[in-house]
Amino acid sequence: MSESERLGIVRDFVAREILGREGILDSLADAPLALYERFAETGLMNWWVPKEHGGLGLGLEESVRIVSELAYGDAGVAFTLFLPVLTTSMIGWYGSEELKERFLGPLVARRGFCATLGSEHEAGSELARISTTVRRDGDTLVLDGTKAFSTSTDFARFLVVIARSADDPARYTAVTVPRDAPGLRVDKRWDVIGMRASATYQVSFSDCRVPGDNALNGNGLRLLEIGLNASRILIAASALGVARRIRDVCMEYGKTKSLKGAPLVKDGVFAGRLGQFEMQIDVMANQCLAAARAYDATAARPDAARVLLRQGAQKSALTAKMFCGQTAWQIASTASEMFGGIGYTHDMVIGKLLRDVRHASIIEGGDDVLRDLVYQRFVVPTAKRT
Ligand SMILES: Cc1cc2nc3c(=O)[nH]c(=O)nc-3n(C[C@H](O)[C@H](O)[C@H](O)COP(=O)(O)OP(=O)(O)OC[C@H]3O[C@@H](n4cnc5c(N)ncnc54)[C@H](O)[C@@H]3O)c2cc1C
Repeated sequence: MSESERLGIVRDFVAREILGREGILDSLADAPLALYERFAETGLMNWWVPKEHGGLGLGLEESVRIVSELAYGDAGVAFTLFLPVLTTSMIGWYGSEELKERFLGPLVARRGFCATLGSEHEAGSELARISTTVRRDGDTLVLDGTKAFSTSTDFARFLVVIARSADDPARYTAVTVPRDAPGLRVDKRWDVIGMRASATYQVSFSDCRVPGDNALNGNGLRLLEIGLNASRILIAASALGVARRIRDVCMEYGKTKSLKGAPLVKDGVFAGRLGQFEMQIDVMANQCLAAARAYDATAARPDAARVLLRQGAQKSALTAKMFCGQTAWQIASTASEMFGGIGYTHDMVIGKLLRDVRHASIIEGGDDVLRDLVYQRFVVPTAKRT
């Protein structure tokens, strides 16, 4: 099947299953697992997992296009469907062969979800201060602590948990934990303001035991940073998808609303705003695709795992996420004014799109955090400046 056929399938899925059902997806009802099952029926679930583990092995460049289409329909659905890329890429690069076989193959075969648990209340973005601990007890690893936010954990097959060594507080480990491991408790689901089709939980571990070889190889914080490269680019792609949708709903509205005896789309101010949106959307798309190509080029190297350990965060992944998050937010803000008072009601989808797109500048590093990271890594060392 070609890329354009796959994109056609995704567009059909969005048109058939999502558009027009925004109210249900925005209701914070139970996570729409039946909807995800219907996505799985397209054969595209976990589309990036390498072929050797039974996946399609699609690259990030194509993933940008897929995610933009999914987010055009619903950013929460898109987030739920692409976020496992964070977990699987950490396992794919830094898990033992046995671990990959145990977790990645069945994930693809059963068309399931997985989750990553890093964030904690007290530590915030200073992840080096996390207090979830891991200790070795004979053949097992034992986890204790609470993770503030974890998307999809309740219905995931397994998780990767970032924990601090109980014996050596300067050591961090990424541990693979089956969802049904005893001692793992889902405390609550958060009532989020946007992306309400996704489900994010607070999760606790109390004497939670897993086999000793469930740890990934390497510093857990560094592995998380590497895993975030792909998902940050896809958060940017999600902002792109929402921005494209906003442009289109503005156009639809402008055709039905009349001003001075003509449709609003004939008004120069309205048209100029749409022209501005198109310029912004075009640059967002180019930035997402450039970041994805850079990611794919590294991922294709036989020594990718080693190169990524050295590199850590990819500059263009950070800048794509920041740029697209900020630009989509500007577009959403401008667009919400363009509907007048009706745009401030739940009768129009623009309010949902505005709430949904807010996540792009917050999740996986708020902009203050990413600005600081870009400054430290890519401004201070002069050789890394563009
Ligand atoms: C819907 C949702 C889903 C999520 N899913 C997951 C998930 O699956 N797994 C997971 O691990 N986490 C998840 N998260 C957590 C998310 O990634 C974090 O909330 C996000 O990165 C922001 O971090 P924080 O909440 O720790 O806030 P902080 O980053 O601590 O921010 C709090 C304040 O401190 C400021 N601040 C922090 N650091 C700096 C700095 N260096 N310079 C200047 N100011 C700074 C911020 O600007 C802000 O004002 C999710 C969150 C949400 C809302």
